[in-house]
This record gives sequence, C-alpha cells and structure tokens, in this order.
Amino acid sequence: MAKSAAVTQGLIPGTLSFKFQYLNTSGQPRSVFAQDGAVEPLELVLGPETVPLFRVTMTHQFLDQMSLFVATPKGGLFEFILKVTRGDAGQIKKAIDQRSSLWLAHLQKIKLTEESKSSEFKSFPCPNCRSTIDLSGFSQTPQVYCGYCSTLVSHPGRAVPIPFEAELQICPECSLYGWIRDFSIFFFYFLGQAGWSLDRKRLCCSCARRIAWRNLWKNLPFVLGFPTALALLFKAFRKPKGSLARVEDGNILANAGDVRGADRVYEALIGDVPYLAGVHYNRGITALRSEDETTARARFQTALKYAANFEPAFDVLRNLYLSRRDQTFLKDLESAFGLPRPAAPDDPFGGQYDAQGYS
Ligand SMILES: [Zn+2]
Ligand SMILES: [Zn+2]
Repeated sequence: MAKSAAVTQGLIPGTLSFKFQYLNTSGQPRSVFAQDGAVEPLELVLGPETVPLFRVTMTHQFLDQMSLFVATPKGGLFEFILKVTRGDAGQIKKAIDQRSSLWLAHLQKIKLTEESKSSEFKSFPCPNCRSTIDLSGFSQTPQVYCGYCSTLVSHPGRAVPIPFEAELQICPECSLYGWIRDFSIFFFYFLGQAGWSLDRKRLCCSCARRIAWRNLWKNLPFVLGFPTALALLFKAFRKPKGSLARVEDGNILANAGDVRGADRVYEALIGDVPYLAGVHYNRGITALRSEDETTARARFQTALKYAANFEPAFDVLRNLYLSRRDQTFLKDLESAFGLPRPAAPDDPFGGQYDAQGYS
C-alpha cells in the first residue's frame, strides 16, 4: 500500500521514544532490563519488534502501565502488556491512538471507495485526544463517543459544546457516567509489625468519596496513614465544575440506593440539555438497579439516539437483547452500529513483526 499524502499529512510528526518492560499477567516484569520503544509515524517499535500502527486496534493505559491489542496477519489478536519505565505512558497512548486511528479511518475510506460507496465514509477528529473516530454507517447525532479517550463529545454544528465534558467517563467501579479521576488509596497498618499498602484506582468522585470515608476510618488509629487518608477525602470532595457537576449529585444518590432521587437530578439535567447521552445512559442504569428492564432498554436506546456510536450503551443493550434472545432487536441494533472495521491489509512493511513470532 502506498503511503499517500492524505495519510501522512494528518499524522503527528516526529518519533516519541520511551523505555519499557514487558509484564506478565500478574503484573510482574518479565525481564530485569528495560528495552527501547518508540512511536514512529507509521510504526510502533517494541525492542526488536516493529508493529505497523494500522494493526494496533486498541490501547489501554493506567498510570505507567499499558495494554495494546494488535491484529495479527492471520486474523487473530495479540495483547502486549508493558510498563513504561521512562517516558509518559499517557502521551505514548495518545500518540499511538492518533496515528493508528488515522490509519484505520484511511483503510475504511479505501474499502468504501473500492465498493463505490465513498459517500458513506464519515470521520470525526476527537477534540480531546485528537484521534480520528470512524463514523461510517452511523446516523448523525448531537454527540459522538470517542472510544480512544472514552469520552462523549458534543458535535459542533449539531450541539452546543458543554464545558468540561472531557472530564466525564464511565466509572469502572459503579458503571455510571461521571467525573473520573485517578486516586491513590494509602492504608497504614500495625498488626504485629508495621506496614502499608497502596492501591491506585480510576474512579468517579461518588465512588471515591465512599472509599475515602472508609479509608479514613481504617487509618484513624495510625498517625502515618491518617494525613494521606484525609488528602484522599479532600480530593474526592473537590467540586466538579460547570453544568455537568450535577451529574455527580445524581450519581451520589444512585450509589446510595436513592434511585428516584438520582432520576430527579438526571431528569432536570436533560430538561436543560436533552442530548446528554451519558445522562440517559445513567437513567438506564438506575432502571436496571430497579429491575425495570423495559424502561432500561428504552433509556439506553435514547442514549444511542443522541450518540449513535456510544459503545457502553450499545454493549449493555446488546447484552440485554442477547439474554432474552431478542434476535430482531439485536439485528436492528447491530445494523445501526456503524460499518465493520476493514480487515488490515497484507503487511506493507516486509513482515518484520511476523518474523518475531507473535503472528
Ligand atoms: Zn478522544
Ligand atoms: Zn463510580
């Protein structure tokens, strides 16, 4: 495949170098020494291996650890788990996402052009992480979901941008759409001998408050642990900003079991801004917590009406249809959820990565 001007023009110039260690599934380094890595415009270098960026289908990053999913030439998926020992893992993820997403969108465009359906190609640059979101096959909606930085973005021209919307994601702890931050949870103990534990988590403020209070009581008897527990509590109580701050008010009620109270907050929010797909999604979660599946389905469908590619709403709805074997609903849902990703073409770089044994 030719490296066309259309592809290279949008790529971030330069090489981002870093050092890394591979981790095993228990999170322990697989070797003593770190290796050299680099995100180049077209390739990802990991020690002796070179991976074309169009084969990187997904990346996850938390603090200094990363997980990369790579499509192999034989149609499989290979996961690299690594720890960045020198360099900024967040920036490395961003550079990989920006470049691989541009490639994947370009491949989609080529495929649709070959099928004489070039008018169906649609893409959108994420204003938060600058990755390219492939929207081919999706209906045009006020909000767009970026699967690279996991945020909902109001599409300019279709919706009024909402301040701080890049701060909200789905919380891995409670599954609600809320204000997500990274928290360090420190616990000092003295049981026979002194020791401490440190846990790092990405949480919504509502979950962080619950954990912070618990942590404070646990650390209360210990002089060393108490100040850090107090610091966690202050961070968890830092007030979110803008009109979306009210999402957290609803989440606090929802996580305390007050589903009706939460719904009242969410309803007030969508009364002001009807296209908040994340808030409709939260209303779907509260309906599920009330064991009202019919209402939950309708609310997740509304979330997709306002953000057609909102993957978390799609995933929950798909699982609900699958559990009830609703084939008709399932077919309609899947057909509305964009065009399939094009298969990665044969290796245009000489098969170096295949030779390193991960195909
Ligand atoms: Zn993004
Ligand atoms: Zn949470």
